Amino acid sequence: MNDDFLLLNPGPVPVAPEVREAMAEPMVSHRSADFEAVYERAQDGLDYVFEHSTPDGEATAGSGTSLICNGTATMAMEAAVANLVDDDSEVVALVNGKFGRRFARIADRHARCTRVEADWGDSLDLDAVREAVDDDTDVVTMVHNETSTGLLNPVPEVGEIAADHDARFVVDGVTSIGGDEFRIDDWGVDVAVTDAQKALAAPPGVSALYATRDAAEAFDGESAPFYEDLEWHLRKAESHQTPFTSAVPLFRALAAAVERIREEGMPDRIARHRRQSAAFRAGFGALGLERFPDPEGPTELSNTLTAIALPETVREDPDAFFDAVAERNVSISGGQAHLGGEIFRVSNMGELADERLLRGVRTVGAALADVGVDADPEAGVAAAREEL
Ligand code: PLP
Repeated sequence: MNDDFLLLNPGPVPVAPEVREAMAEPMVSHRSADFEAVYERAQDGLDYVFEHSTPDGEATAGSGTSLICNGTATMAMEAAVANLVDDDSEVVALVNGKFGRRFARIADRHARCTRVEADWGDSLDLDAVREAVDDDTDVVTMVHNETSTGLLNPVPEVGEIAADHDARFVVDGVTSIGGDEFRIDDWGVDVAVTDAQKALAAPPGVSALYATRDAAEAFDGESAPFYEDLEWHLRKAESHQTPFTSAVPLFRALAAAVERIREEGMPDRIARHRRQSAAFRAGFGALGLERFPDPEGPTELSNTLTAIALPETVREDPDAFFDAVAERNVSISGGQAHLGGEIFRVSNMGELADERLLRGVRTVGAALADVGVDADPEAGVAAAREEL
C-alpha cells in the first residue's frame, strides 16, 4: 500500500493522517480520565454532526444524546431496534436494498416484522407504507442512503407516516450522516444510526447512534442483547465511558475525525459531497455509462455514492474490468448480492480531493477501454471537472 493507492469503496473510506496517527498513541485504560476526555471529544463532535447536518448549519435536533458503540453499524442498528421492542411488538421495515433488508432481518429476531418491499434500486412506494403502518405499529425502520444501490430514500415523508401512528422511527443514516443533510427533529426521527468508517471518515470498528430524549426514555435495555443494553450505555455515557472495554484507538480516531468535520462545518461538507457526486455522475455519463436505475418516485440519487450499470459486454466478464481498475491502484466496489457483476459503486464520502475523484473517473474510463468498451477517459474527466 502506498500514497498512490486510491480507495473509492463506499466504506471504509480514506482517513486523514491525523486520524491515523491518533490510533498510534500509547494505550490507556478505558476507565481512565484520559479515555473519558477522548469519549467526550468524540461525543461532542457527534452531537454537532447529528444536530447540525443542514445546508445552512441550523440546528435540527437538540434534546438527544449521541452514543458510541463498540461495533460496526449493524450493532447500532440492532441496538436501536432491540431496545424499543419486545417479542409482541410490530415493526414495519422498508426494504429496497441490502441494508433495508438487514433491518428487517434484525427486526425478525426481536419482534414481529412486516416488510414493505420494492426491487433493489426502485423507489419506495409511500402508499404501500401508509397501508402497512397503523396504530399497532411500534417501530418503523428505514435506510436513508441505501449503499447497495446508491439511492436516497424519503425519510421526511415516512417520518410523517410514523408520527401519525405514534410509531418510533429508526433510521439508518450510515452513508449519509456526516456527508449529507439529515434532520432529526424535522423528519421525526427517534433514533439515527451512523458508522465511523463512512461519511465521518474514521476507521471501521465503531458506530454511533443518536437517541432523542423521548426515544431514550422508551428504551428497555432488558429486552436487548446484553452487549447492546442502551439504558446501560446511556448511564455509562454520563461519565464518558462505555459499559464494556472500549476500542480505545478507534475512539481516539473517531474523536479526531469528528473534530475535522466541525472545522469544515456541515454546510460546506454537504455542498462538497453534492458537488462531487454530481461530478461522478457527469463523468461516468460522458464515458457512455448508465446509472444503475434512475428511480422514479420519492427516492432520489445519493449524494455520497454513485452506482453505475456495467455495460452488457462487461457483464460477460466483470472480473476483467475490476482487475483493470485494480491494476491502476484504485479500489472500487461491485454490486452486492444479486447485483454482483451488474453494477459498480464508488464513494465520495469523507474527504476525497477533487483531483482524486478525477483520477477515479479516468481510471474507470481506461479500464473500460482495456476490456473493449468504446470509452474516452478524458471526455469523462472533462465532464466531471465541469461539475467541480
Ligand atoms: N447500513 C448501511 C447503509 C451500510 O452501508 C452498511 C455497511 O456498508 C451497514 C449498515 C452495516 O455496516 P457493517 O456491515 O459494517 O456493520
